[in-house]
Amino acid sequence: MADTKPVGHKRPPHTTDVAYQQCINPLCGAVLDVRQVRTACDRCGDLLDVQYDWDRASVPSRLADFERMWAERRAPMRFSGVWRFHELLPFAPPDQVVTVGEGQTLLQQADAVAQYVGVRAGRLYLQYEGMNPSGSFKDNGMCAAFTHARMTGASRAACASTGNTSASLAMYSAVTRLMKAVIFIGSGKIAYGKLSQALEFGALTVQIAGDFDDAMVRVREVSKDLGIYLVNSINPFRLEGQKTIMFRVLEALGWEVPDWIVVPGGNLGNSSAFGKAFSELHALGLIDRIPRLAVINAAGADTLYQLVERRGVRWNDGCPDMQAIGDYYRELDARSAKADTIASAIEINRPVNLKKCLRALEVCQGVVRRVSDQEILDAKAQVGAGGIGCEPASAASVAGAKLLREEGIIEPGDRVVCILTGHQLKDPTATVAYHTTDQDLFNEVLGSRGVRRASFANRAVAVPNDLEAIIRAIQLYS
Ligand SMILES: *Cc1c(COP(=O)(O)O)cnc(C)c1O
Ligand SMILES: [Zn+2]
Repeated sequence: MADTKPVGHKRPPHTTDVAYQQCINPLCGAVLDVRQVRTACDRCGDLLDVQYDWDRASVPSRLADFERMWAERRAPMRFSGVWRFHELLPFAPPDQVVTVGEGQTLLQQADAVAQYVGVRAGRLYLQYEGMNPSGSFKDNGMCAAFTHARMTGASRAACASTGNTSASLAMYSAVTRLMKAVIFIGSGKIAYGKLSQALEFGALTVQIAGDFDDAMVRVREVSKDLGIYLVNSINPFRLEGQKTIMFRVLEALGWEVPDWIVVPGGNLGNSSAFGKAFSELHALGLIDRIPRLAVINAAGADTLYQLVERRGVRWNDGCPDMQAIGDYYRELDARSAKADTIASAIEINRPVNLKKCLRALEVCQGVVRRVSDQEILDAKAQVGAGGIGCEPASAASVAGAKLLREEGIIEPGDRVVCILTGHQLKDPTATVAYHTTDQDLFNEVLGSRGVRRASFANRAVAVPNDLEAIIRAIQLYS
């Protein structure tokens, strides 16, 4: 087992706060006050963590103590699936906490999907984060980022987004009226379900002639120049909120630790947050073992896979091989490689949380795999057939679990939790194109991405407008 001590033990000078921010680079370790607004370490430019002086926090002695808090659910702090774990992310005074009722999500045992993946009945679970108010897991992090933004007196918040971060930001902005939302999107890359939310919720929407990675660079520049609060997942407070997805998984399993957590990897915020959650729970003595983590890339956006599984890049006590990472990015640039996958939420070649994810992989003995758009869509159809629809990126988790099972890395009796990150209605185009009888639509949306067949399509039946023909068709097919 890797060293699971949460990194960082120094507290900032001149503060009485339990929480502080700290550079993740152990050679730097710079410490900042919890109220400062930074998206990178001033000293070395690395990512920041939110850290706690746990000795001074009031953490329940058993995880089961959190169950009692549900009795207080009339209080918004306890109704929220994020803030009812406030004691495990104690960076904000309770009166500053922002919530719109996020995190009321479900862990569902899915036996049909278990069969598809190849594990025994009763061993596969889907954590359905599409049930969040804006339809994706992003709300878990956005309420935490909004809370920090409020603590710092921010009046505008910005993000670059493949869609769901902007939908979530726009929603929190519209509901709370605390901040004006500014969103940066790439051109032609955003699913309509997501764009429609940002527009209707009234966010200032800036469409850049470029892709997500370009938009990400620009939003960092602009927010620095204009002093706009940045809510992308480089924001360490967002990841604090996302830790609670794991707390809810444990809660749903009666506080038993599963064998595997399988999650799609885009900007790698979720995987990083999950690793931090388990590392902290373990160090606090609240769990006695740490599940393994599988991060699943789309084959058309597989930076993490290439670096970890092909080039052997590791956390390496906080000093990963930056040369190898730089070389890889230079190779991408030299071939003008752009991320390309139907799973638009993970269509990212330069994941901002790469280093934190390497740390999570270390803590959780993680593995990384890549799955094709064909595998993603077939897995998505299997998930949807069980009545819990998800968007393409989410289904990468199920496709990845199937692959790991085929490789024998996941065992048939392992207890596996796949995270369904976003709701089916986020991207209806992908779903309709998969089930369509219209070959042109199929080719345009999916064929162009190398998808050859819709193995589990549920096709509409075309009939003439004639009662007898309709009755015959129904008799034939039902
Ligand atoms: C943002 C997003 C992801 C990627 O999550 P990261 O934390 O960036 O790796 C995956 N699926 C959906 C639906 C998303 O919205
Ligand atoms: Zn630093």
